[in-house]
Amino acid sequence: MDNPTIATPSEIDAELAHLHAERAKAEATVRNSDEAPYEVDERNAVDLAADLEPRIEQARRSASEFEVSMQPFEEEFDRRGGWTRAWLVQNTGGHVHRTMLCRTCFPSTKFAWLIHLSGHDEAEIVDLAGEAACTECYPSAPVEVRNRPSRIKTPEQLARNEQKAERATQRPRRRSPRLVGFPCAPSTTE
Ligand SMILES: [Zn+2]
Repeated sequence: MDNPTIATPSEIDAELAHLHAERAKAEATVRNSDEAPYEVDERNAVDLAADLEPRIEQARRSASEFEVSMQPFEEEFDRRGGWTRAWLVQNTGGHVHRTMLCRTCFPSTKFAWLIHLSGHDEAEIVDLAGEAACTECYPSAPVEVRNRPSRIKTPEQLARNEQKAERATQRPRRRSPRLVGFPCAPSTTE
């Protein structure tokens, strides 16, 4: 994305979500590599460490590069005075929250960032969330909305549904292949 100032909140958050994921991957490489040498015997550990060092260094560099790449998008969020965002907790019956800092969540809580809802009206988000709307994050959600089942989908579910729909419409309308003289298998019955 060249110019965040003309991008939609969903486009910007999609970019941020991607960069966050890549940074997390790089940080995990640094973390795991730091621990790995202690799991093998000492002599191998030395070799392994020498082997790993450039990879760790590369991962460290990547992590900070991703951090830098995020800045223009974070700045655009601030420049516009922010916009609505929504996160779904990834477990059975997980709630939709307006912030990952919600006090009903924990540092270990796993969220799916609903980037397709970024910048959408909060009433629309609550309406989709229904019973999954967090009461702490959306205290004004009407009771009749809260009693409805959730229609929230994660970006991955939406992408899967889209692919399915695409496959259904693009199913090739091939004529059944003509039967061309395959010899009959010799009968094995005796
Ligand atoms: Zn909440």
